[in-house]
Amino acid sequence: MPDKRGQLPAPDVSYNSRCALLVGIVTGGAMAHHTGIDLAVALPHPPIFIEGIGSAADHTEAKASLDAFVRAAEKVVAADPEVLVIATPHGNTYGDCFNISPGRGAKGDWRSFGRDPVRYEASFDEAFAGALRQAAELAGIPCIESVEPVLDHGVMVPLHFLIAAGLQLGRCKLVRISISFLDEAAHYKLGCCVQQVAAASGRTAVFVASGDLSHRLKHDGPYGYASEGPAFDKAVAEAFAAGDFARFFSFEKGFRDKAAECGLNSFLVMAGVFDGYDVRAQLYSYEGPWGVGYGIASFNRAEPNEARRFA
Ligand SMILES: [Zn+2]
Repeated sequence: MPDKRGQLPAPDVSYNSRCALLVGIVTGGAMAHHTGIDLAVALPHPPIFIEGIGSAADHTEAKASLDAFVRAAEKVVAADPEVLVIATPHGNTYGDCFNISPGRGAKGDWRSFGRDPVRYEASFDEAFAGALRQAAELAGIPCIESVEPVLDHGVMVPLHFLIAAGLQLGRCKLVRISISFLDEAAHYKLGCCVQQVAAASGRTAVFVASGDLSHRLKHDGPYGYASEGPAFDKAVAEAFAAGDFARFFSFEKGFRDKAAECGLNSFLVMAGVFDGYDVRAQLYSYEGPWGVGYGIASFNRAEPNEARRFA
């Protein structure tokens, strides 16, 4: 059974073809009356947060995170999104390109975590996904369409709380982005493309950066202890609180590996969504009760700021 406290991203699956597939779907119709994504949230994805997987005692221990999750989810639902763009580290992940899920949708459940019968059924926004692939290609960012009919827990845990807060999956469609093992700048630039497509779509979109923090906070945690773990989490929690996205670029690769972090690439995509803008940041909670760090924060787009172009 997978570790319910959190897992690291799947190993790099090499993909040698440089994204031969390019779908020429563009968002149709008149130019935007909306101006793109105004709200993003950073959310962790431990299945143990789900009732029936985690115990009541677990949920008492992680009360700060669970309360924060509810608040963040309510904020997303209050924005009434028609499109939820979610970056996950736990889908089909490739070394040299992003995977933007194709198809009409995907389903998921918690059977592999011993819980039945909660099921989720999400429809994908195929037009948005197609336009995003096209925008990414134009920006020199390779993407593929890896068919994946099953939702990963990086999507399902945020969805679970969003649905509980009132999100209607029939009305709100999903765009699922699996992060890659490309560099920080590539992730950031994909976020810039997300913002462009959202602005052109004329639809209300919210971005969800799904990611746990370090997995090496405690000796009895799933991956043991390393001093880089708490150091990484402190830096990210501070970056969340201040909206200081430059911090996301400040880690050496070796440091990230030693910290056994999960979510930084998702956070980098989120940073790109707000390229050239100040943000109003709110850190709802940070804690790591079981050796894995969980940070929950929201970011509202504020005024343009040319100094905030990080890649
Ligand atoms: Zn993870």
